[in-house]
Amino acid sequence: MASKKCSACGQTFHPRPQVPDQSYCSSPSCQQERRRKWQKSKLKFDSDYQDNQARAQQAWSKRNPDYWREYRKSHPKYAERNRVLQHDRNKKPTADKIANMALSDRLNLLPSGIYNLSLVTDDGIAKMDVWTVEITVHSCQYKSKSKIAKR
Ligand SMILES: [Zn+2]
Repeated sequence: MASKKCSACGQTFHPRPQVPDQSYCSSPSCQQERRRKWQKSKLKFDSDYQDNQARAQQAWSKRNPDYWREYRKSHPKYAERNRVLQHDRNKKPTADKIANMALSDRLNLLPSGIYNLSLVTDDGIAKMDVWTVEITVHSCQYKSKSKIAKR
């Protein structure tokens, strides 16, 4: 049996006869890497799987609405750190500045993918409820100098 190079650690290994195109050795960390890659590509290409994952997360959030509130209560340091980070974020460039960026940059701001959305109140603090949504970027043709309509 020919030996192969593990895609994760680069060590040579002998594929198991029942898995001829095995490309990861059997070490636990390499198998973990293999599963991680598999899940990542699943998420990217299998919309049913995406859907399931998103639904599962949403359902979990619904079943555990107090999770983050409780978590913050029992982890005051974590909550405090978050507050500080949020404060820093609030000082970051505003939407106006972002709107002034080159159009090509703006189009790249939001790649397609699965996002956790949370409502942010006027004081800039995110609410606990989180929605898991899939955002697909559709490419559009803008004429130069034409403005994007405001709603
Ligand atoms: Zn390996």
